[in-house]
Amino acid sequence: MTMNAKKEVATMPAILPAVFQQAVDQADLAISITDTHANILYVNPAFVRVTGYSPEDVIGHNESILSNKTTPPEIYRSLWQRISRGESWSGRLVNRRKDGSKYLAELTITPVTDSGGNLVSFLGLHRDITEVHRLERQVKNQKGLIESVVDAAPMVIALLDADERVVLDNHEYKKLTADLGMAEPAPLLLAAIRSGLDAQAPSPAGYAFLDREVRIDRPGSGTPRWFSCSGTWVEEEDDRADAFFAGGHSRYLLLVAKDISSFRAQQEKARMAALQAMMAEEERVNTLRESLSAAVFQLEGPLNMVASAVGMLARRSGAPGANPMAAALADAVHSGEEALAGLRAMIPAQRAEAASVINTNELLRDVLDISTGRLLASGISVNWKPQAVLPALQGHPNKLRSLFKALVDNAIEAMSTRGWRERDLIVSSSATADSIEVSIEDSGPGIPADLQLKVFEPFFTTRRDGGRHLGTGLSTAQQIVADHGGTLEIDATARKGCRVVVRLPRQKLS
Ligand code: FAD
Repeated sequence: MTMNAKKEVATMPAILPAVFQQAVDQADLAISITDTHANILYVNPAFVRVTGYSPEDVIGHNESILSNKTTPPEIYRSLWQRISRGESWSGRLVNRRKDGSKYLAELTITPVTDSGGNLVSFLGLHRDITEVHRLERQVKNQKGLIESVVDAAPMVIALLDADERVVLDNHEYKKLTADLGMAEPAPLLLAAIRSGLDAQAPSPAGYAFLDREVRIDRPGSGTPRWFSCSGTWVEEEDDRADAFFAGGHSRYLLLVAKDISSFRAQQEKARMAALQAMMAEEERVNTLRESLSAAVFQLEGPLNMVASAVGMLARRSGAPGANPMAAALADAVHSGEEALAGLRAMIPAQRAEAASVINTNELLRDVLDISTGRLLASGISVNWKPQAVLPALQGHPNKLRSLFKALVDNAIEAMSTRGWRERDLIVSSSATADSIEVSIEDSGPGIPADLQLKVFEPFFTTRRDGGRHLGTGLSTAQQIVADHGGTLEIDATARKGCRVVVRLPRQKLS
């Protein structure tokens, strides 16, 4: 076989061949030299140690003496194709020792050419990698096993790198991705965890966070999903060459989220029933408060007029009691004032409510759930467009719920006008850097531009018959929003119907 001529090499010092011989003899690598047909010419002591064959056993025999006859023929074919072309070959073969035991050999065959480029022999270098292979397989099997367990786990699992990119996930995670219809639910879950006002609280040792319950709201009629999330930091040793001595590691966040939606749905049912009863009672008390306030308001005007007339009469008639009519009227005014004071005393006081951490989406959802019956009865279709995760607020949940309920009630009433055909209610929520914005938009007749400020006056109503309410709804709503440091506006730019926008600041209540 003819090979390309090699470049001249520097002349070898006389001592070197002996050194080469010693180096090859003492090398801890099985070395064999064969003729061009793989008939063995030389083996070193390491070859003897690895194979169990003595030089006498193998010299003159083909290297195939080592074959266990289980290596696929294609491998030998490619081996011979390469080495016959003068190229070296590396690969793994199953070999059999003299005693019949098998081992996995990692072999490199290098063709040796003479100064004229002719192939003269082959140099074989091999080592027993059975143990390395066993360990590799073990790692691979363990990895496969862990992946199967993680994949089959009945909870969402995702491993995130320092940039919060998902580097590993499981079947449940992929299912959640499909359910929520988004690219990566992990950042959403993390945002929900961070949106809690207590997110900065120190976490228990070992956990970045533990059993944090988060709520993900979905647009449309989809019920919210609830997850109990835990996060643990895991570290991986740096496998780059330059970190071999220097060390170093990468940190990952293992996010585990258990879907507790069905459990929460049960809880929600009980909570809704209690809420409904509480809100019905609140509404009854509010109606009473409104009626009494309206009665006091209506009576105060005429009574004040009569009182000033009595005063004038008394001044004209001189001495007190000189005019019996004036005296009788004064008595009547006095009893009227007493009756008014009695009425005022009967007005139920506003219930004090402690501020707590609230989820605005949850309050809006409560109101829509409570109003379902009325919405259906009025043939109103609801378009619920929440921001999937809203930052938590500090506020008075019952007051805010009543506020949203009053706005939804107004919308239902506006669209329930006989003969009104368009009956759509759009409720949306979103967060800006410093506030949470809620928009409640109906497709009713709207509020004429000249009345858009007047509707906030107490006891003002645009309904000819007064509707179910006495006209204190919007003024009370505005008061609740003001108590939270926010604003309530009627969007004058709305093309049709009425759009009320509530903005609540994100800072805590003082
Ligand atoms: P064979 O009948 O020998 O050959 C099977 C196929 O290999 C043939 O169909 C043919 O495609 C190809 N082939 C074989 N000989 C030649 C040739 N001279 N020219 C071109 N193609 C040929 N094998 C091991 O199993 N374990 C080893 O540790 C090992 N070490 C080797 C070290 C060196 C330096 C060399 C050169 C070869 C080594 N071999 C080794 C390969 C060995 O020589 C045999 O080719 C192989 O063992 C297959 O043997 P076989 O009897 O099963 O099949």
